[in-house]
Amino acid sequence: MHNLNFETANAIYIHFPFCSSKCPYCDFYSTKYTKLGVDQFWAALFMELKELSRTTKNNLVQTIYIGGGTPSLIEPVFVAELLQKIKYRFKVPPTAEITMEVNPASVTEEKIIKLKRAGINRLSVGIQSFNDQHLSFLGRRSNAENNKKILSLIDNYFDNYSADLIFALPNQSLNEFEQDLEEILKFSPPHISLYNLELHENTPFHEQYKKGNLKLPAEELDADMYELALEKLNTAGYRHYEISNFCQPGYRARHNYLYWLYQPYLALGPGASGFDGSCRYQNFRDLEKYIDYYNPERFTFAEIMDLKKKNKKSFSELLKNKKKLDVNNKAKIRKINCLTAEEKMAEYSFLALRTDNGLFYHKFYQKFKRDFKTIYKAEIEELIKNKLIIEANGRIYLTTRGRELANEVFLKFLLD
Ligand code: SF4
Repeated sequence: MHNLNFETANAIYIHFPFCSSKCPYCDFYSTKYTKLGVDQFWAALFMELKELSRTTKNNLVQTIYIGGGTPSLIEPVFVAELLQKIKYRFKVPPTAEITMEVNPASVTEEKIIKLKRAGINRLSVGIQSFNDQHLSFLGRRSNAENNKKILSLIDNYFDNYSADLIFALPNQSLNEFEQDLEEILKFSPPHISLYNLELHENTPFHEQYKKGNLKLPAEELDADMYELALEKLNTAGYRHYEISNFCQPGYRARHNYLYWLYQPYLALGPGASGFDGSCRYQNFRDLEKYIDYYNPERFTFAEIMDLKKKNKKSFSELLKNKKKLDVNNKAKIRKINCLTAEEKMAEYSFLALRTDNGLFYHKFYQKFKRDFKTIYKAEIEELIKNKLIIEANGRIYLTTRGRELANEVFLKFLLD
Protein backbone atom coordinates (compact mmCIF):
# COMPACT_ATOMS: atom_id res chain seq x y z
CA MET A 1 0.00 0.00 0.00
CA HIS A 2 1.47 3.34 -1.02
CA ASN A 3 1.68 6.07 1.63
CA LEU A 4 0.77 9.64 0.80
CA ASN A 5 3.70 11.99 0.78
CA PHE A 6 3.16 15.73 0.35
CA GLU A 7 6.20 17.92 -0.44
CA THR A 8 3.94 20.81 0.48
CA ALA A 9 0.43 20.98 1.92
CA ASN A 10 -0.52 23.84 -0.39
CA ALA A 11 -4.33 23.61 -0.21
CA ILE A 12 -6.86 21.87 2.01
CA TYR A 13 -10.29 20.70 0.90
CA ILE A 14 -12.79 19.64 3.57
CA HIS A 15 -15.83 17.64 2.48
CA PHE A 16 -18.84 18.16 4.75
CA PRO A 17 -21.03 15.19 3.82
CA PHE A 18 -24.49 16.31 4.96
CA CYS A 19 -27.48 17.88 3.20
CA SER A 20 -31.07 18.56 4.27
CA SER A 21 -32.31 16.66 1.24
CA LYS A 22 -30.83 15.26 -1.95
CA CYS A 23 -31.10 17.23 -5.20
CA PRO A 24 -31.99 14.79 -8.01
CA TYR A 25 -29.09 15.85 -10.29
CA CYS A 26 -26.32 15.75 -7.69
CA ASP A 27 -23.66 13.05 -7.48
CA PHE A 28 -21.55 14.58 -4.69
CA TYR A 29 -21.41 12.32 -1.67
CA SER A 30 -23.80 13.44 1.06
CA THR A 31 -26.09 11.90 3.59
CA LYS A 32 -29.08 13.18 5.58
CA TYR A 33 -28.14 15.83 8.14
CA THR A 34 -28.47 14.75 11.77
CA LYS A 35 -26.99 16.55 14.75
CA LEU A 36 -25.45 13.37 16.13
CA GLY A 37 -23.99 12.42 12.74
CA VAL A 38 -22.38 15.85 12.37
CA ASP A 39 -21.00 15.73 15.91
CA GLN A 40 -19.35 12.35 15.39
CA PHE A 41 -18.12 13.32 11.93
CA TRP A 42 -16.49 16.41 13.36
CA ALA A 43 -14.48 14.44 15.89
CA ALA A 44 -13.41 12.00 13.15
CA LEU A 45 -12.39 14.87 10.86
CA PHE A 46 -10.00 16.25 13.46
CA MET A 47 -8.28 12.86 13.59
CA GLU A 48 -7.91 12.73 9.82
CA LEU A 49 -6.49 16.24 9.93
CA LYS A 50 -3.86 15.10 12.39
CA GLU A 51 -3.05 12.00 10.34
CA LEU A 52 -2.69 13.90 7.06
CA SER A 53 -0.64 16.69 8.63
CA ARG A 54 2.02 14.02 9.26
CA THR A 55 2.30 13.25 5.55
CA THR A 56 3.43 16.79 4.66
CA LYS A 57 7.01 18.09 4.66
CA ASN A 58 6.22 21.76 4.22
CA ASN A 59 2.99 22.64 5.99
CA LEU A 60 2.34 26.00 4.35
CA VAL A 61 -1.27 26.30 3.19
CA GLN A 62 -2.37 28.90 0.64
CA THR A 63 -6.06 28.04 0.45
CA ILE A 64 -8.73 26.21 2.43
CA TYR A 65 -12.06 25.20 0.90
CA ILE A 66 -15.02 23.82 2.86
CA GLY A 67 -17.36 22.15 0.38
CA GLY A 68 -19.95 19.44 0.42
CA GLY A 69 -22.69 18.58 0.94
CA THR A 70 -24.09 21.69 2.52
CA PRO A 71 -21.48 23.26 4.80
CA SER A 72 -23.83 26.16 5.59
CA LEU A 73 -25.71 23.71 7.83
CA ILE A 74 -22.70 23.80 10.16
CA GLU A 75 -22.90 26.01 13.21
CA PRO A 76 -20.28 28.78 12.80
CA VAL A 77 -18.74 27.80 16.15
CA PHE A 78 -17.71 24.47 14.55
CA VAL A 79 -16.21 26.33 11.60
CA ALA A 80 -14.16 28.50 13.98
CA GLU A 81 -12.96 25.38 15.81
CA LEU A 82 -12.05 23.66 12.53
CA LEU A 83 -10.03 26.65 11.32
CA GLN A 84 -8.29 26.83 14.67
CA LYS A 85 -7.38 23.13 14.41
CA ILE A 86 -6.07 23.60 10.86
CA LYS A 87 -4.01 26.61 11.98
CA TYR A 88 -2.58 24.56 14.84
CA ARG A 89 -1.26 21.90 12.46
CA PHE A 90 -0.50 24.00 9.35
CA LYS A 91 0.97 27.41 8.57
CA VAL A 92 -1.94 29.50 7.28
CA PRO A 93 -0.79 33.03 6.34
CA PRO A 94 -3.21 35.94 6.77
CA THR A 95 -3.41 36.18 2.97
CA ALA A 96 -4.78 32.63 2.62
CA GLU A 97 -8.06 32.28 0.75
CA ILE A 98 -10.60 30.52 3.01
CA THR A 99 -13.79 29.63 1.14
CA MET A 100 -17.00 28.00 2.29
CA GLU A 101 -19.90 26.87 0.11
CA VAL A 102 -23.30 28.14 1.21
CA ASN A 103 -26.79 27.16 0.20
CA PRO A 104 -29.25 30.09 0.20
CA ALA A 105 -31.79 27.82 1.94
CA SER A 106 -29.61 27.31 5.01
CA VAL A 107 -27.95 30.66 5.59
CA THR A 108 -29.14 33.79 7.36
CA GLU A 109 -27.72 37.28 7.91
CA GLU A 110 -26.61 36.26 11.40
CA LYS A 111 -24.83 33.18 10.07
CA ILE A 112 -23.11 35.16 7.31
CA ILE A 113 -21.74 37.57 9.93
CA LYS A 114 -20.64 34.74 12.21
CA LEU A 115 -18.92 32.88 9.38
CA LYS A 116 -16.92 35.99 8.61
CA ARG A 117 -15.96 36.32 12.26
CA ALA A 118 -14.99 32.63 12.32
CA GLY A 119 -12.34 33.36 9.64
CA ILE A 120 -14.08 32.59 6.34
CA ASN A 121 -13.04 35.24 3.80
CA ARG A 122 -14.80 33.98 0.67
CA LEU A 123 -18.24 32.44 0.15
CA SER A 124 -19.40 30.38 -2.79
CA VAL A 125 -23.17 30.46 -3.06
CA GLY A 126 -25.20 27.93 -5.06
CA ILE A 127 -27.85 30.17 -6.66
CA GLN A 128 -28.41 27.89 -9.69
CA SER A 129 -31.35 29.96 -11.05
CA PHE A 130 -33.70 32.83 -10.32
CA ASN A 131 -36.65 31.01 -11.87
CA ASP A 132 -38.94 29.30 -9.32
CA GLN A 133 -40.03 26.61 -11.73
CA HIS A 134 -36.47 25.62 -12.57
CA LEU A 135 -35.39 25.79 -8.92
CA SER A 136 -38.19 23.47 -7.93
CA PHE A 137 -37.34 21.08 -10.80
CA LEU A 138 -33.73 20.98 -9.54
CA GLY A 139 -34.98 20.08 -6.05
CA ARG A 140 -33.54 23.28 -4.57
CA ARG A 141 -35.00 24.39 -1.24
CA SER A 142 -34.61 28.09 -1.98
CA ASN A 143 -36.76 30.25 -4.28
CA ALA A 144 -35.93 33.19 -6.54
CA GLU A 145 -36.82 35.80 -3.93
CA ASN A 146 -34.69 34.19 -1.24
CA ASN A 147 -31.79 33.74 -3.71
CA LYS A 148 -31.82 37.50 -4.36
CA LYS A 149 -32.06 38.28 -0.66
CA ILE A 150 -29.12 36.03 0.27
CA LEU A 151 -27.00 37.26 -2.63
CA SER A 152 -27.56 40.82 -1.54
CA LEU A 153 -26.64 39.98 2.09
CA ILE A 154 -23.47 38.21 0.99
CA ASP A 155 -22.61 41.18 -1.18
CA ASN A 156 -23.01 43.45 1.86
CA TYR A 157 -20.68 41.47 4.10
CA PHE A 158 -18.12 39.83 1.78
CA ASP A 159 -15.77 41.51 -0.71
CA ASN A 160 -14.88 38.17 -2.23
CA TYR A 161 -17.55 35.67 -3.19
CA SER A 162 -18.74 33.50 -6.03
CA ALA A 163 -22.22 32.65 -7.31
CA ASP A 164 -23.12 29.53 -9.33
CA LEU A 165 -25.73 29.18 -12.05
CA ILE A 166 -26.84 26.00 -13.82
CA PHE A 167 -28.03 26.20 -17.43
CA ALA A 168 -29.27 23.93 -20.23
CA LEU A 169 -32.14 22.69 -18.07
CA PRO A 170 -35.03 20.76 -19.59
CA ASN A 171 -37.56 23.20 -21.08
CA GLN A 172 -35.33 26.21 -20.33
CA SER A 173 -35.46 28.79 -23.10
CA LEU A 174 -32.57 30.99 -24.19
CA ASN A 175 -34.59 33.94 -22.95
CA GLU A 176 -35.03 32.42 -19.47
CA PHE A 177 -31.31 31.84 -19.17
CA GLU A 178 -30.67 35.40 -20.33
CA GLN A 179 -32.91 36.60 -17.47
CA ASP A 180 -30.84 34.53 -15.01
CA LEU A 181 -27.66 36.12 -16.34
CA GLU A 182 -29.11 39.62 -16.14
CA GLU A 183 -30.32 39.04 -12.60
CA ILE A 184 -26.96 37.78 -11.39
CA LEU A 185 -25.15 40.66 -13.08
CA LYS A 186 -27.23 43.15 -11.06
CA PHE A 187 -25.17 42.07 -8.03
CA SER A 188 -21.80 42.19 -9.88
CA PRO A 189 -20.42 39.19 -7.98
CA PRO A 190 -16.61 39.16 -8.06
CA HIS A 191 -16.76 35.57 -9.39
CA ILE A 192 -19.35 33.56 -11.32
CA SER A 193 -19.39 29.82 -12.11
CA LEU A 194 -21.64 28.45 -14.84
CA TYR A 195 -22.37 24.75 -15.26
CA ASN A 196 -24.61 23.04 -17.74
CA LEU A 197 -26.82 20.36 -16.26
CA GLU A 198 -25.08 17.00 -16.46
CA LEU A 199 -26.79 13.70 -15.93
CA HIS A 200 -24.64 11.61 -13.62
CA GLU A 201 -25.16 7.88 -13.29
CA ASN A 202 -27.03 6.69 -10.21
CA THR A 203 -28.93 9.95 -9.81
CA PRO A 204 -32.74 10.21 -10.05
CA PHE A 205 -32.38 12.47 -13.12
CA HIS A 206 -30.31 9.84 -14.90
CA GLU A 207 -32.95 7.22 -14.10
CA GLN A 208 -35.67 9.48 -15.52
CA TYR A 209 -33.54 10.12 -18.60
CA LYS A 210 -33.09 6.38 -19.20
CA LYS A 211 -36.85 5.90 -19.00
CA GLY A 212 -37.36 8.72 -21.51
CA ASN A 213 -39.04 11.00 -18.94
CA LEU A 214 -36.39 13.72 -18.99
CA LYS A 215 -35.03 15.47 -22.04
CA LEU A 216 -32.08 17.84 -22.13
CA PRO A 217 -32.11 20.78 -24.56
CA ALA A 218 -30.59 20.20 -27.99
CA GLU A 219 -26.82 20.64 -28.23
CA GLU A 220 -27.26 23.79 -30.35
CA LEU A 221 -29.34 25.46 -27.65
CA ASP A 222 -26.81 24.42 -24.98
CA ALA A 223 -24.03 25.99 -27.12
CA ASP A 224 -26.14 29.12 -27.74
CA MET A 225 -26.60 29.55 -23.98
CA TYR A 226 -22.89 29.18 -23.35
CA GLU A 227 -22.03 31.68 -26.07
CA LEU A 228 -24.63 34.12 -24.76
CA ALA A 229 -23.04 33.88 -21.30
CA LEU A 230 -19.55 34.50 -22.75
CA GLU A 231 -20.80 37.59 -24.55
CA LYS A 232 -22.75 39.05 -21.62
CA LEU A 233 -20.09 38.39 -19.02
CA ASN A 234 -17.36 39.69 -21.27
CA THR A 235 -19.32 42.90 -21.84
CA ALA A 236 -19.78 43.21 -18.07
CA GLY A 237 -15.98 43.09 -17.60
CA TYR A 238 -15.54 39.47 -16.50
CA ARG A 239 -12.52 37.45 -17.52
CA HIS A 240 -13.35 33.96 -18.74
CA TYR A 241 -10.33 32.36 -17.10
CA GLU A 242 -11.50 28.74 -17.02
CA ILE A 243 -14.11 26.76 -18.98
CA SER A 244 -16.85 27.25 -16.35
CA ASN A 245 -15.45 30.20 -14.40
CA PHE A 246 -15.49 33.97 -14.80
CA CYS A 247 -14.05 36.64 -12.56
CA GLN A 248 -13.61 40.34 -12.15
CA PRO A 249 -9.93 41.41 -12.15
CA GLY A 250 -8.12 39.98 -9.12
CA TYR A 251 -10.88 37.54 -8.07
CA ARG A 252 -9.81 34.25 -9.63
CA ALA A 253 -10.71 31.27 -7.39
CA ARG A 254 -7.25 30.62 -5.98
CA HIS A 255 -8.13 27.23 -4.53
CA ASN A 256 -9.49 25.77 -7.76
CA TYR A 257 -6.71 27.39 -9.73
CA LEU A 258 -4.20 25.27 -7.81
CA TYR A 259 -6.01 22.15 -9.12
CA TRP A 260 -5.64 23.38 -12.70
CA LEU A 261 -1.97 24.18 -12.14
CA TYR A 262 -1.51 20.52 -11.17
CA GLN A 263 -0.47 21.38 -7.63
CA PRO A 264 -0.94 19.01 -4.69
CA TYR A 265 -3.83 19.43 -2.27
CA LEU A 266 -5.02 17.64 0.84
CA ALA A 267 -8.62 16.49 0.96
CA LEU A 268 -10.48 15.34 4.05
CA GLY A 269 -13.86 13.82 4.78
CA PRO A 270 -15.77 10.87 3.28
CA GLY A 271 -15.95 11.13 -0.50
CA ALA A 272 -13.14 13.72 -0.70
CA SER A 273 -10.37 13.22 -3.24
CA GLY A 274 -6.87 14.66 -2.98
CA PHE A 275 -3.53 14.63 -4.79
CA ASP A 276 -0.02 14.56 -3.36
CA GLY A 277 1.67 15.40 -6.67
CA SER A 278 2.21 11.74 -7.64
CA CYS A 279 -0.80 9.84 -6.35
CA ARG A 280 -4.48 10.63 -6.32
CA TYR A 281 -6.55 9.36 -3.42
CA GLN A 282 -10.24 9.02 -2.83
CA ASN A 283 -11.75 8.61 0.61
CA PHE A 284 -14.60 6.12 0.46
CA ARG A 285 -18.07 7.60 0.12
CA ASP A 286 -19.19 6.08 3.39
CA LEU A 287 -19.74 8.18 6.51
CA GLU A 288 -20.17 5.16 8.81
CA LYS A 289 -16.87 3.65 7.69
CA TYR A 290 -15.19 7.02 8.10
CA ILE A 291 -16.44 7.48 11.66
CA ASP A 292 -15.64 3.84 12.54
CA TYR A 293 -12.09 4.38 11.39
CA TYR A 294 -11.30 7.81 12.82
CA ASN A 295 -13.67 8.01 15.80
CA PRO A 296 -14.30 4.40 16.86
CA GLU A 297 -15.49 5.46 20.31
CA ARG A 298 -18.11 7.64 18.61
CA PHE A 299 -17.26 10.67 20.72
CA THR A 300 -19.32 13.75 19.96
CA PHE A 301 -17.81 17.18 19.56
CA ALA A 302 -19.18 18.29 22.96
CA GLU A 303 -17.80 15.18 24.67
CA ILE A 304 -14.34 15.81 23.31
CA MET A 305 -14.37 19.42 24.47
CA ASP A 306 -15.63 18.30 27.87
CA LEU A 307 -13.13 15.45 28.25
CA LYS A 308 -10.37 17.74 27.08
CA LYS A 309 -11.22 20.28 29.78
CA LYS A 310 -11.39 17.68 32.54
CA ASN A 311 -8.36 15.64 31.53
CA LYS A 312 -6.36 18.41 29.93
CA LYS A 313 -5.63 15.90 27.19
CA SER A 314 -6.04 16.10 23.48
CA PHE A 315 -8.65 14.04 21.70
CA SER A 316 -5.98 11.86 20.10
CA GLU A 317 -4.46 11.07 23.50
CA LEU A 318 -7.88 10.09 24.77
CA LEU A 319 -8.21 7.62 21.94
CA LYS A 320 -4.65 6.38 22.15
CA ASN A 321 -5.10 3.63 24.65
CA LYS A 322 -8.56 2.63 23.59
CA LYS A 323 -8.22 1.83 19.94
CA LYS A 324 -5.12 2.69 17.99
CA LEU A 325 -5.58 3.95 14.47
CA ASP A 326 -4.82 1.09 12.19
CA VAL A 327 -2.12 2.91 10.24
CA ASN A 328 -1.20 -0.13 8.22
CA ASN A 329 -4.72 -0.54 7.05
CA LYS A 330 -5.41 2.70 5.26
CA ALA A 331 -7.06 0.61 2.55
CA LYS A 332 -10.05 0.62 4.87
CA ILE A 333 -10.59 4.31 4.47
CA ARG A 334 -9.27 5.41 1.07
CA LYS A 335 -8.14 4.22 -2.29
CA ILE A 336 -4.76 5.49 -3.49
CA ASN A 337 -3.90 5.48 -7.16
CA CYS A 338 -0.32 6.35 -8.10
CA LEU A 339 -0.06 7.70 -11.60
CA THR A 340 2.26 6.59 -14.38
CA ALA A 341 4.38 9.22 -16.18
CA GLU A 342 1.94 9.07 -19.13
CA GLU A 343 -1.06 9.60 -16.88
CA LYS A 344 0.61 12.59 -15.22
CA MET A 345 1.42 14.19 -18.57
CA ALA A 346 -2.16 13.69 -19.76
CA GLU A 347 -3.66 15.10 -16.56
CA TYR A 348 -1.29 18.06 -16.61
CA SER A 349 -2.24 18.77 -20.23
CA PHE A 350 -5.98 18.74 -19.89
CA LEU A 351 -5.96 20.65 -16.61
CA ALA A 352 -3.76 23.38 -18.16
CA LEU A 353 -6.05 23.53 -21.18
CA ARG A 354 -9.04 24.28 -18.95
CA THR A 355 -7.54 27.72 -18.25
CA ASP A 356 -7.42 30.66 -20.64
CA ASN A 357 -3.61 30.67 -20.40
CA GLY A 358 -3.60 27.19 -21.88
CA LEU A 359 -0.56 24.96 -21.93
CA PHE A 360 2.93 26.48 -22.26
CA TYR A 361 5.41 24.11 -23.91
CA HIS A 362 8.33 25.31 -21.78
CA LYS A 363 6.41 24.70 -18.53
CA PHE A 364 5.55 21.19 -19.66
CA TYR A 365 9.25 20.61 -20.36
CA GLN A 366 10.26 21.99 -16.96
CA LYS A 367 7.91 19.56 -15.26
CA PHE A 368 8.41 16.37 -17.27
CA LYS A 369 11.71 16.90 -19.17
CA ARG A 370 9.86 15.85 -22.30
CA ASP A 371 8.97 17.84 -25.41
CA PHE A 372 5.17 18.29 -25.58
CA LYS A 373 5.10 18.85 -29.34
CA THR A 374 6.99 15.65 -30.03
CA ILE A 375 4.78 13.51 -27.80
CA TYR A 376 1.44 14.89 -29.00
CA LYS A 377 2.35 15.92 -32.58
CA ALA A 378 -0.56 14.13 -34.29
CA GLU A 379 -3.10 15.21 -31.65
CA ILE A 380 -2.06 18.89 -31.86
CA GLU A 381 -2.30 18.88 -35.67
CA GLU A 382 -5.75 17.28 -35.62
CA LEU A 383 -7.11 19.65 -32.94
CA ILE A 384 -5.80 22.72 -34.79
CA LYS A 385 -7.32 21.43 -38.05
CA ASN A 386 -10.70 20.98 -36.31
CA LYS A 387 -10.46 24.52 -34.86
CA LEU A 388 -10.60 23.25 -31.28
CA ILE A 389 -7.24 24.71 -30.19
CA ILE A 390 -4.98 27.56 -31.27
CA GLU A 391 -1.20 27.45 -31.19
CA ALA A 392 0.59 30.75 -30.58
CA ASN A 393 3.71 32.02 -28.79
CA GLY A 394 4.87 28.67 -27.43
CA ARG A 395 1.53 27.54 -26.09
CA ILE A 396 -1.80 26.04 -27.08
CA TYR A 397 -5.21 27.06 -25.77
CA LEU A 398 -8.85 26.19 -26.45
CA THR A 399 -11.01 28.08 -28.95
CA THR A 400 -14.63 28.88 -27.97
CA ARG A 401 -15.68 25.73 -29.82
CA GLY A 402 -12.91 23.84 -28.01
CA ARG A 403 -14.34 25.00 -24.69
CA GLU A 404 -17.78 23.75 -25.68
CA LEU A 405 -16.30 20.37 -26.68
CA ALA A 406 -13.61 20.31 -24.00
CA ASN A 407 -14.11 16.66 -23.06
CA GLU A 408 -13.44 15.58 -26.65
CA VAL A 409 -10.22 17.61 -26.65
CA PHE A 410 -9.06 16.17 -23.32
CA LEU A 411 -9.58 12.57 -24.48
CA LYS A 412 -6.93 13.14 -27.15
CA PHE A 413 -4.24 13.48 -24.51
CA LEU A 414 -4.88 10.10 -22.94
CA LEU A 415 -2.10 8.04 -24.52
CA ASP A 416 -2.71 4.33 -25.14
S1 SF4 B 1 -27.48 20.72 -1.68
FE1 SF4 B 1 -25.67 20.61 -3.03
S2 SF4 B 1 -24.48 18.82 -2.32
FE2 SF4 B 1 -26.55 18.69 -1.39
S3 SF4 B 1 -27.66 17.37 -2.78
FE3 SF4 B 1 -28.09 19.49 -3.43
S4 SF4 B 1 -26.51 19.94 -4.97
FE4 SF4 B 1 -25.86 18.09 -3.89
